[in-house]
Amino acid sequence: MVADTTGSINRIFEAQKAHQYKVAESSCVERKTKLLALKKAVEETFRQEIRDALFADFRKPQAETDLTEIFAVTSEINHTVSYLEKWMSDRYVKTPLSFFGSSSYVRYEPKGTCLIISPWNFPVNLSLGPLVSAVAAGNTAVIKPSEYTPHSSAVLRKIVAHVFSPDEVEVIEGGVETSTELLSLPFNHIFFTGSPQVGKVVMKAAAEHLASVTLELGGKSPVIIDETADIQAAARRLAWGKFMNSGQICIAPDYVFVHRSKAGSFLEELERVLADFYGQAPLGSDSYCSMVNEKHAGRVHAYLEDAVEKGAKVVFGGEKEAGRISPTVITEVAAGSKILQEEIFGPLLPVLTYDDPEEVVRHIRSGEKPLALYIYSRKNSRIEYFLSHTRAGGTCINNNDMHFLQPYLPFGGDNNSGIGKAHGEWGFKAFSNERSVYRQHLPSVLEKLMPPYTAGKNRVIEWIVKLF
Ligand code: NAD
Repeated sequence: MVADTTGSINRIFEAQKAHQYKVAESSCVERKTKLLALKKAVEETFRQEIRDALFADFRKPQAETDLTEIFAVTSEINHTVSYLEKWMSDRYVKTPLSFFGSSSYVRYEPKGTCLIISPWNFPVNLSLGPLVSAVAAGNTAVIKPSEYTPHSSAVLRKIVAHVFSPDEVEVIEGGVETSTELLSLPFNHIFFTGSPQVGKVVMKAAAEHLASVTLELGGKSPVIIDETADIQAAARRLAWGKFMNSGQICIAPDYVFVHRSKAGSFLEELERVLADFYGQAPLGSDSYCSMVNEKHAGRVHAYLEDAVEKGAKVVFGGEKEAGRISPTVITEVAAGSKILQEEIFGPLLPVLTYDDPEEVVRHIRSGEKPLALYIYSRKNSRIEYFLSHTRAGGTCINNNDMHFLQPYLPFGGDNNSGIGKAHGEWGFKAFSNERSVYRQHLPSVLEKLMPPYTAGKNRVIEWIVKLF
């Protein structure tokens, strides 16, 4: 990793600050041209380098890189390019009778100079995805990727240098110190993806400059499987969404609540699917990613040890070897286990059982609002019950993780799982100020009420208050 120095950080920030109005003036066609150049860089020019970097960083299988790093960015660009003209257009609003003689609209203007801080779990996707929205909205941006995935950061730097000039977009590498330095600068908007803990640090730093923030955070994302669910489909979809990227996904199913009557068949099916996906020796499978480093592997494995110490049963997996932990399913997890308190962010799946849907709702309400909550059921009234009795950033019904890739949906959490939304039009808005524009065409009737406030004018004001 090349850590950037204070001097270069300040230089880049000042250059972008000076250049921001020029970038803001860019037309829709110019912004689309930049986005399409970025798409070509990701999809063609640097595709193999991206794959190699992700493999070097944590043995991410090529198929997962193509789907979750390349496609996630190119589809965001395609969607943005299709709608950018509409999103950039002034949006006229209605005019009440009392404002007769005027018209009003909302103009989407760029926030200005933006900072994007990204995590290591999808280093390309979670750096370039927000960048697509920042560029679409006409901003300059500095990207600070995670220090844990240095090969990916190096490719990101090359991609950005290939497509943009440094006074428009630049990658700055470094760890917490670099991040802290960047956060001390008066950026106009900060788009942070990472843990709730660091999210609080970012929001405090942003408060110093009253910078706006989008915080894409994490937490525990539960899955509910009721007695009417299609168990085969649930096991298959859940296994992919949980164990892809070795479970290091913010929206991965964190734990499962399965109806007691279906627990046996669900566990059998899950075991069959996992053997199908990764064979009898998953640690040697080319379709299975590693943990990002020993520190995280140790953290996750300690959750397993703690749960087992407190009486949990390992029904599948449990092996750890050189930064790799096999897909692991555990049952009979004691309430006080750490695995039920902390976000797992790794390939361990606690399966809990329930008899009454109210138990599930009580449990979910007792924790922070999840980033995602998944419901597997064939019964509409049950789906509606879980939807309306819980809160979450997003939900998939009879699937998991997929809402992230649906470009017409906003993506994000609520409170502890995030503030603000990303993707598509919501991403464009996150990086835009909605500027109110009121234009007077004819003299306003309200002008008749200017001082001095005579008895007659006071009577008219009385009427206005009553009527409008
Ligand atoms: P992290 O919060 O530790 O780090 C994220 C970024 O913040 C990195 O670039 C890091 O260098 C920087 N950082 C770390 N400590 C900092 C500090 N004290 N001050 C300033 N900057 C600091 O997160 P991570 O370990 O990289 O990623 C895992 C977390 O991210 C999980 O909680 C996961 O749920 C969450 N996440 C959320 C989303 C989402 O879209 N909501 C996506 C991916 C990951």
